[in-house]
Amino acid sequence: MSKLVIVGTVAFDAIETPFGKTDRILGGAATFIGLAASQFNIDAVIVSIIGGDFPEEYLDLLSNKNIDLSGVEIVKDGKTFFWKGKYHNDMNSRDTLVTELNVLADFNPVVPEDYRNAEVVMLGNLHPLTQLSVIEQMEVKPKLVILDTMNFWMNNALEDLHKVIKKIDVIAINDEEARQLTKEYSLVVAARKIHEMGPKYVVIKKGEHGAFLFHNDNVFFAPALPLEEVFDPTGAGDTFAGGFAGYLVKTGDFSFENLKKAIIYGSTLASFCVEKFGTERMENLSGEEIHKRLHQFKQLTQFEIELS
Ligand code: AMP
Repeated sequence: MSKLVIVGTVAFDAIETPFGKTDRILGGAATFIGLAASQFNIDAVIVSIIGGDFPEEYLDLLSNKNIDLSGVEIVKDGKTFFWKGKYHNDMNSRDTLVTELNVLADFNPVVPEDYRNAEVVMLGNLHPLTQLSVIEQMEVKPKLVILDTMNFWMNNALEDLHKVIKKIDVIAINDEEARQLTKEYSLVVAARKIHEMGPKYVVIKKGEHGAFLFHNDNVFFAPALPLEEVFDPTGAGDTFAGGFAGYLVKTGDFSFENLKKAIIYGSTLASFCVEKFGTERMENLSGEEIHKRLHQFKQLTQFEIELS
């Protein structure tokens, strides 16, 4: 089976949206990426760190989805990373109220031996040097390295971020981050500048307005499915990335044409994630539901037009 390495946070989240709030629930970028990728029946390992306070039932939830947790370090007397966020009424923007790094402050990722030849590496949002260390541990050059990052690292570790961007194949960031990274307003110009920094493929996510895929002069755009209910956008970006990476691992085809399909899978999975708080919707998502939504996606974007 083809393999995927996922590095990122496994966390406690507390979320407030206009529709309600939660206490500490299961969260973290690697959690959402793993849950989405698990839909593709591939060998996926999470490389992360948690404290002794992390409930066994959350670990069971992930391993029952066949996600390999052998790369998750448990610091018995430490506390798990905690994040608290509050969404504004538009549900597109949010304030971070609390970030407690806890055990993440001393995280030295170790990729399990069996995964050092994985075809795809998904670098979730973390310090760029942590991301770099994962790339350096790979014994066989991966076919595709995908990176997510955020404005925080652009503000605080830009030089290190450039070091890792130089070594990856796909960057997946949102429109604001692309603008900040390049100081360009036009996303087309921003994508070109990011290409020059290293990545062959540039994915720019626009939340409920879909996602772009740039590859040299080729551009592809997928809208997000218009949904009746958006309950909690937390993890949508990571779920998108997990669906994107999972599909590529499954198919083993890293061409532009196939990356277009991966974008559709990523968008489809993300459309489920936002329907409930935290990971709830992703925990019981069936293949049949995904299949149905892919059909809706196709209908949404297909049209016949005669061009002479
Ligand atoms: P997203 O909504 O896709 O941007 O991701 C939300 C997830 O990212 C939450 O589950 C958080 O636990 C996690 N998270 C929040 N802040 C950070 C951070 N500074 N570094 C890593 N992960 C974070």
